[in-house]
Order: sequence, then C-alpha cells, then structure tokens
Amino acid sequence: MKLQEKFVELRSKQQGILATNFYNFETLEGVLCAAKSTNQPIILQLTESSINYMGLPVAFSLAKSMLAHHGVEGWIHLDHGDSYELVAQCLDMGFDSVMIDASEQPFKDNIAITSRVVKLAENYGANVEAELGYIAKLGQDKDGSGFTQPEEAKQFVEATGVNALAVAIGTAHGFYDKEPKLDLGLLSKISNATEVTLVLHGGSGVPAESLRQAIDRGICKINVATEIKNIFMRTLKTKLATNEEIDLRKVFPTATDQVIELVKGKLEIVRNIKDQR
Ligand SMILES: [Zn+2]
Repeated sequence: MKLQEKFVELRSKQQGILATNFYNFETLEGVLCAAKSTNQPIILQLTESSINYMGLPVAFSLAKSMLAHHGVEGWIHLDHGDSYELVAQCLDMGFDSVMIDASEQPFKDNIAITSRVVKLAENYGANVEAELGYIAKLGQDKDGSGFTQPEEAKQFVEATGVNALAVAIGTAHGFYDKEPKLDLGLLSKISNATEVTLVLHGGSGVPAESLRQAIDRGICKINVATEIKNIFMRTLKTKLATNEEIDLRKVFPTATDQVIELVKGKLEIVRNIKDQR
C-alpha cells in the first residue's frame, strides 16, 4: 500500500502513524523491533545529514532490507529535504515519500518549489510532504511566531496538490525548555479547512496527552527524532562510564534496548487512541 493510501485509511479510523528518524544500524534496529513487537506500521525517516553520514544507497537499502527482515509494514521518507535535487535523488533511489521544506521561503516560493516536487513525485507514485509556518529548527528561537494559518493552508494545498502538510501549532525541533502548549483550536481550524494529511514535527518531549489530542483533532503523522538520539547516546555514556568492554556488539544492544522501549511507548500513544479510553 502506498503511504498516501495508508494515510487515508488511518484518518478514517482517527489513528496516527509514527515517523521516526534513524542514524545507524542500531537505532533502526530499535525502531523496527518496537514496531514488530507492537504490530504497528512505521515511517522511517532520513535527513540529509543522515544520508551524508551513511551514504544514500547504503541508508536506503539498510532500511529496505531491515523492514523486510523484521516483516514490518513501513515506508522510507526523506525528512526536511531542502532542495529539488536532493528530492530527485531520493525518488530515483526508491523512497516512498519525500518532504520538501521551503517553509522559510516566502509563501509563493514555497508553493512554486512544492508544486515542482509534487509534479516530479507523480512519476514515482510517491507521497509528498511540505511545511507551512514556522516550526523552530534546532538552534532557532522556539518562541518565534509563525503559526500555520487555516486559510493559507487551504490555499497552499489547493495550489500545490501536496499529500501531507507539516503545520506549526506550537511544537519545535529538539528538546523543550518548558512543556510545549499546542494550539489545538488552531489545529481544528486547519483540519476543517483542508483534507490534506497533517503532520506534527517536533514530537520529542510532547506529553502523551497532547499527542493524543492532536491526533483527535486531525494530526495523522507524528515525527520523533531527538528523543531517539538522546536515549541512545545517554545509555551508551552511562554504560561506558562504568565498563571497560571494547566489544561494541556487547555494548550497543543496551542502548538499542532503550530505543525499543522508547519507541514502543510512542507507538502506544499513536495507535488506536479510542481503544485506550
Ligand atoms: Zn521536522
């Protein structure tokens, strides 16, 4: 099933889907073990820096072969693609889905590049995600204004034909200094204004209840990245502080296990929320 079709299925059941970034074999293994053990679908995301770290064919085939190995229903997605060229490379590689992030460009430029990407992706039957509004990136001011406006969202989707839209409703990338407060009223308005699949970036550190409410009000895809890197590295540091082991195959699984637990928890939140109440 194409990711675009999965979104429609999930939305009809008011379910969400988790999209997690991975950085190496171990973090990918952790994510997939969690998806497998909870029998949940998953979106595996690569940023440009992760692609540069592993190499595009390696990162892609690792994800592809591990999805098959674990028997998990999943899709491979480019997260925050910032150029047409990168998007094109990923589509050629076989990605199921790409994000073109021109959110920092003027509205009409964002429409122009997103439209070009949508046209290109049609040849591959791939899903396209764009971003509208200001979702602070790592190191950017988290209080920066620029929430997504419902009317603009509607115009943007109509003009571009994009499948999924990342909206700015109060989340930010990285960890939060204080608990993020999502503007759920605004989310409902955006959701009523357009049929597009809505995406929440900056899911790390957003309380479970807020994530559930966001799904209730129309968010379908929830991105989690920072928490995965964080728990993996913190666990490794703790382990190595008291351990002289040099066989990485004996050290890394402890950190991978923590990724599994973390992702299982997130999957619990985004699966059928109605069943949990
Ligand atoms: Zn993001």
